[in-house]
Amino acid sequence: MHREIIAIKTRKREELVDITAKVRELIRSKDIEKGCLVIFVPHTTAGITVNEGADPTVKEDLLYVLRKLIPHRDSEYKHLEGNSDAHIKASLLGSSLTLLIENGDLILGRWQAIFFAEFDGPRQRRIHFSLY
Ligand code: ZN
Repeated sequence: MHREIIAIKTRKREELVDITAKVRELIRSKDIEKGCLVIFVPHTTAGITVNEGADPTVKEDLLYVLRKLIPHRDSEYKHLEGNSDAHIKASLLGSSLTLLIENGDLILGRWQAIFFAEFDGPRQRRIHFSLY
C-alpha cells in the first residue's frame, strides 16, 4: 500500500481543478499494475468528483447550477461563518472517490477527468491518496 498527500493552491472562490494528470503521474511513479486508488479530501468546503474534462464548459455549467441551487447568501442560513453554501456543495459532491487501476493506469472513460472541487477558496488544500 502507498500513501501520498498532494498540496494544491486554488485561485478562485469556486473552481473545479482538473487533477487527472497529477493522479496518473502518481500511479506511474508507484509502478502499480492493477489495483485500487482511494482519493480523500480532508476539507469541509471542498470535494472531489469525476466528470467531463474534454469540454471546459461542462465544469462551468456544473458550478453554475450548484450556485443557482445553493446561493452564497441566504438569510435562513444558521452557520455564522458565512460559507454555508460551500459546506452544502461539498457534501453534495462528496469527499472521496474510489477508482480502479489496470495496466498501470487509471480506468477512466474517454471523456472523464478527476476534479478537485473548491467552494470556499482561494486556499491551500490537501488531497490524500491511498493506492492498493
Ligand atoms: Zn463554515
